[in-house]
Formats: sequence, C-alpha cells, structure tokens
Amino acid sequence: MLPASSIAGDETTSDLRIGLGEDSHRIESGGPLRIGGIDVPHDRHLVGHSDADVLLHAVTDALLGAAALPDIGRLFPNTDPANRNRNSAEMLRAAVARVSEVGYHIVNLDCVIHAERPKLADYYDAIRHVLAGILQLNPHQIGIKAKTGEGVGPVGNQELVEARCIVLLERAGDA
Ligand code: MG
Repeated sequence: MLPASSIAGDETTSDLRIGLGEDSHRIESGGPLRIGGIDVPHDRHLVGHSDADVLLHAVTDALLGAAALPDIGRLFPNTDPANRNRNSAEMLRAAVARVSEVGYHIVNLDCVIHAERPKLADYYDAIRHVLAGILQLNPHQIGIKAKTGEGVGPVGNQELVEARCIVLLERAGDA
C-alpha cells in the first residue's frame, strides 16, 4: 500500500518533481572511509547506526523527498536493531523501488560531498559507477563533486563529513 503522503496518482501538477537530500556523519579514527558505496583508503571512517555512508543517505532522502515519501529515518529507524550496520545501498535500492511504485523515474541527480580529507576527485568516477548501478542510470546522469571546509568548522576540523544531493524525477510514461 502506498503512503497517503506520496505523489502516487497526483495528476494535478507537473510531470517533474525535484528533491533535496542532506546528511552528515561524525568522523572517527581508523579507515577506510565508506562513501558513495566505495571504501576510500583513509585513516578515518564515518560513524553511524548503519554503515554511515553519508552520500548514499543524502541520495536516498533526495529521492524520497521528491516523491513526497517518508524520509530515510522513518523508513529505516535507528531504533530498529535490524538497521544496525545496514548496507546503505540496500536502503537506496528500497527508495528507488518506492519511487518507481509511485510512477516516477529519475532524470538526473547532482551531489556535493563536504570533506576536508581525503581528496575525493580520484574517486568520482567509481562513485558515479556505483550509483549508476544502484539507480539503473547512465553515469552521465549523475554529477559528483567534493568541497573542503577550508580548515574551518566541523568539516574543516575533520569532525564531520556532509553530503547533499538534488534529484529530478519525471512521471513515467504509460508505455
Ligand atoms: Mg545518515
């Protein structure tokens, strides 16, 4: 059953829907750094109830938000022991399935990672490839970039990594 808050059956508005997802996770000692579905060699990692993949969480929430579906915290509450160390790719796949259920497909997405270290540019293509596989897209539909915190604030002081994602959905055809 589709949640009442979703856009399923909404014929009154545009065929396009935009969604924004944001997330942050705390950094602790010991690598690797799991981000965008890959393990980046690093001396620190992200901490969370699940595998703490900050980018996949942001993408998941962008998709769910665009479809007016319950967010990742409501779908996978951290009070549920089943979600402990859960693979974030699994949560993202669940979000993709729900977007499809309500009759939409992804046009494109663009993501920003905020991390002081390590430099992530060498991993953009690998991350895009992983995301393309999970989302059933061409890598050209996926933008990835990273920014440092300029040595300032929780990102700059290497206490936190943040990620943001914006996604565009389009109503699927009847074909
Ligand atoms: Mg998270």
